[in-house]
Amino acid sequence: MTRVLLVEDDRDIAAGIVYSLEVEGYTVDHSENCARAYEALAAQRFDLLLIDLGLPDGSGHDVMRFARKDSAVPVIFLTARDDEANIVMGLDMGADDYITKPFRVRELMSRIASVLRRSGQAAVEELAFGPLVIRPGRAQVLIHGEEVLLTAMEYRLLLNFAARPGQLFSRSQLLETLWDVDEAYVNDNTLSVYIKRLREKLAPAAPAVEVVTVRGLGYRLNTDGDKNN
Ligand code: CA
Repeated sequence: MTRVLLVEDDRDIAAGIVYSLEVEGYTVDHSENCARAYEALAAQRFDLLLIDLGLPDGSGHDVMRFARKDSAVPVIFLTARDDEANIVMGLDMGADDYITKPFRVRELMSRIASVLRRSGQAAVEELAFGPLVIRPGRAQVLIHGEEVLLTAMEYRLLLNFAARPGQLFSRSQLLETLWDVDEAYVNDNTLSVYIKRLREKLAPAAPAVEVVTVRGLGYRLNTDGDKNN
């Protein structure tokens, strides 16, 4: 049973989402403001949060902050079309995705399924490569036991590499992985920046584990300490 908390003050929108989710087999709790959402979060564990950014008694960001204090529950924000600054802020805070209103229900359902799949909560508990440990359910990365803080994009890249260690990924494959998160903000140049930052953050794990550039072809995660491999 997958339990979703919907935080949305527009009753018509909320009713539509609740109905659609329940038809798909999800169990849904609905809170219409931050205060109610805090109560729900304190009382119950959720598998996914769908949070409207503009709430009568605060911001959706506040709800996410509250929820993430003691869990890595996936978050999708529902946003207004012109809310770019808040979308970026939400993603920087580690939201998994956002969807702009008005949206088609099918689109929302597919985003939800994709976020749940990526968060892999039911699946793998831990991926370990020498000094590097990834805990997908908690979105946590450790090197030599020390937690490494990654942005949502860096984390997504790392998960992608770690799912297939040693495999070469072309730049366009990696861009596709990230587009899935945020089409508007990723291009070829930003990909280079994300790779560079990820590599820097993984540096304490090298040479046992590192992201290697394969000139002209792409990147791969080497997990055996052999740079020439
Ligand atoms: Ca609203």
